[in-house]
Amino acid sequence: MSSFLQSIYSQAVHLGEEHQVAGSASSPMTIPVVSPIHPSVSYIYDDLEELDAALGGAPDHYVYHRYGNPTVHAFERAVAGLETFGMTAEAATGVAAFAASSGMAAIHLTLLALGVGEGATVAAAQDCYGATHAIVEKLLPTMGVRGLFVDTTELAQVERVLAREKPAILIAETISNPLLKVTDVAALARLCHDHGALLVIDNTFATPMLYRPLIHGADVVVHSATKYLGGHGDVMGGVIIAKAEHKDVLWEMLKTTGAVLGPQEAWLLSRGLKTLPLRMERQCASATQVAAWLTDHPLVERVIFPGSPDHPQHGLAKQMFGGAHFGAMIAFEIRDGSRDKVFAFFNQLQMIQPATSLGDIYSLVLYPAHSSHRALSPEQRRALGISDRLVRLSVGIEAVEDITADLEQALARVGELG
Ligand code: PLP
Repeated sequence: MSSFLQSIYSQAVHLGEEHQVAGSASSPMTIPVVSPIHPSVSYIYDDLEELDAALGGAPDHYVYHRYGNPTVHAFERAVAGLETFGMTAEAATGVAAFAASSGMAAIHLTLLALGVGEGATVAAAQDCYGATHAIVEKLLPTMGVRGLFVDTTELAQVERVLAREKPAILIAETISNPLLKVTDVAALARLCHDHGALLVIDNTFATPMLYRPLIHGADVVVHSATKYLGGHGDVMGGVIIAKAEHKDVLWEMLKTTGAVLGPQEAWLLSRGLKTLPLRMERQCASATQVAAWLTDHPLVERVIFPGSPDHPQHGLAKQMFGGAHFGAMIAFEIRDGSRDKVFAFFNQLQMIQPATSLGDIYSLVLYPAHSSHRALSPEQRRALGISDRLVRLSVGIEAVEDITADLEQALARVGELG
């Protein structure tokens, strides 16, 4: 990597370009500023010896898309660079990223690759994303794996579970979906390692702009790249960033199971990544203002935002994220809300999109009870604190005044319903 790329802003722009790679196939006269998309499924060599070397895994030798692709590698290299930014060169050595076809493919693949099999136990944060919850609760048991859940904000409880149940893996989110609980990753890593478990952190909501879990002891980081990394709501992907010791097994598993990312998707993700620092900065700053506005609104009962002084992990969030930003996700409850009132609110929104995603340039709202956490029973949702009046808002890059004006007129509609 060029020694000029000192800042994460510069790295986000340049790390995914091919001319950053020593030994790039392009000649110095023909290096394009923007790296091309390589759609080829397979690669040919002048003689079979070279193909043989390529099949044996020779670096920068491509054979077949499922084994590796230059456009996908560019995205992987850029994400690995951002997630290791600030790490010592020694610690960052061997850290590798693997792109997958979606965030869920990345999570599933990580669990399989880290040796989850018959007789093993996997622990997950109790308020993780609905599909992650479903993997641990429903899919893993079909493979003879015991899945269990723990409140990762209660470290004493985590320690008891690790000591008693001896899980092979604990998976948690830096900022949880949808209740925005903040996980003390460094403390979890210490506890996991004391009890022989690996710590997998889903860093989708925080992004490497707020927090880089590998630096703080996580073994593997996963992302739904569909969200902030891509940022434009036009591409689905996932990515795994792992310490050197897990690299080979992850690559083998990805190659064998085949949930790889396509080159067009990788190119779009690399393009999105270039503006990640700018988008996150603006979206986080706007979210802080929107959260304050919602807190003052008479028709809003409860606002959950890690930047609010009354958030249960506000102090931890300040310490982990540096104090300036707290993410761009807000959850809030509509006062005396029912499913009908929440639906009326959603139907009334003009600019903010009621879409099943987050992290886009567009502001988006989602109703967790019928969307991200639909797979949970009403009792499970109630136990977690996901009520029927809870709304999740992903703050986009639009002007704050436009976002609050849209929220105001939609809340006014709720007010009319009495
Ligand atoms: N992890 C988190 C925290 C998510 O919010 C999501 C999706 O919303 C996923 C993982 C799954 O990602 P994907 O939809 O790209 O499979």
